[in-house]
Amino acid sequence: MKFYSTNNKNLKVSLKEAVLTGMPADKGLFMPEIINKLEDKFFQNLSGLSFQEMSKIIAQNIIDDIDEKIMDAIIDEAINFDAPLVPITEKISTLELFHGPTLAFKDFGARFMSRLMACYMKDSKQKLNIIVATSGDTGSAVANGFLGVPNINVLVLYPSGKVSKLQEKQIATLGENITALEVAGTFDDCQKMVKASLLDKDILANLKITSANSINISRLIPQIFYFFQMVAQLNNRADDKIAVCVPSGNFGNLTAGLISKKMGLPIAQFIAATNINDVVPEYLKSAIFTPRPSVTTISNAMDVGNPSNFARILDLYHHDYATLSHEIKGYAFRDSQTREKMKEVYTESGYICDPHGAVGCLGLETFLQKNPEYKQGIFLETAHPAKFKEIVDATIGKDVPIPDRLTRFMDRDILSVKISTEFQQLKDLMLGSETYR
Ligand SMILES: *Cc1c(COP(=O)(O)O)cnc(C)c1O
Repeated sequence: MKFYSTNNKNLKVSLKEAVLTGMPADKGLFMPEIINKLEDKFFQNLSGLSFQEMSKIIAQNIIDDIDEKIMDAIIDEAINFDAPLVPITEKISTLELFHGPTLAFKDFGARFMSRLMACYMKDSKQKLNIIVATSGDTGSAVANGFLGVPNINVLVLYPSGKVSKLQEKQIATLGENITALEVAGTFDDCQKMVKASLLDKDILANLKITSANSINISRLIPQIFYFFQMVAQLNNRADDKIAVCVPSGNFGNLTAGLISKKMGLPIAQFIAATNINDVVPEYLKSAIFTPRPSVTTISNAMDVGNPSNFARILDLYHHDYATLSHEIKGYAFRDSQTREKMKEVYTESGYICDPHGAVGCLGLETFLQKNPEYKQGIFLETAHPAKFKEIVDATIGKDVPIPDRLTRFMDRDILSVKISTEFQQLKDLMLGSETYR
């Protein structure tokens, strides 16, 4: 199986190259050359398979340059927590994707990517350095995902004083192969330094270095697995037409859902729900795509003004707007609506949504109201409500308990190295230590 660039279908590389480089030289995005439908037999048995068992079969459908036994071991290690489907009302269920170590769905992508990279690096004499800038969530998922993975170092740059205490603890207390760099600047400064290091001649000549941002195709693969796991859990209700709402920012999650559908998963309708950063819902209504600077909201992991996976979605539909806008509906919601929904879901059912899940719930309900032929729907719950404790507590008037695996971090010491926004300092640190060679 080869992977092509969305900018040039003739530029094809192996999965190994796609994963280790992250982005094609022409700045497109890597996509699998062929997405095969899985066999009928597999779908008939779906409910009888464990999450790991089905993941292994799906992985074989897309990855062919890793020995099957090794791939199975990667899945057992990376996909070691559940994605339960939890009913909220008679018509609405949620797929909880926050049971990993940092309590957000990004754990799936980070854990899988890290082990895949380690496998590809196994015979290399050089270590692979992953450098990532974070405003909070991505950095913690990546740092925890790569913790203890042999032959790989991670450098996480985060803006001093601009991530929450909890996020800093999740990024900066790990040690081992994770270096946390506290930058005296903004997230944009961190981003600039990461880009500079990926282009620096001296660094490139001496170190093997790549990024771990969300465009890496290996992060999407495990996200395909849980759409299958979702349908498997529907059991006897699977005869109804299924609508799935994905709260979206960079649209990686939705892209994974669309790929699962191409593999034969019977999802009749996708709904993309966003906060007021609504360039994709706007496109779905008007056929006009207008990227613009993002606006801050309470569902901040979706504050994206130019969604990076949009090119993949266009590619999956061969730029056919009519089909695309039929199979994906898009709705956008203001923070006031999100807060209202969190309150309402809690009072009526006792379920606590995080702000991102609440946007998903709003999108699903909007669709179901307009399309009564759909008897049920599912929205993805992308983060644990305790990750957004201040907002959630204030909105529902209750003290959300923090899970143990999160409080655990709070007692640990911060190990970060403080640096300025001067690139030379980062460069000296990287080139001056044997750690990164
Ligand atoms: C990253 C993130 C999203 C957005 O997912 P995309 O795949 O970028 O659309 C939604 N919710 C949470 C909690 C996230 O961390």
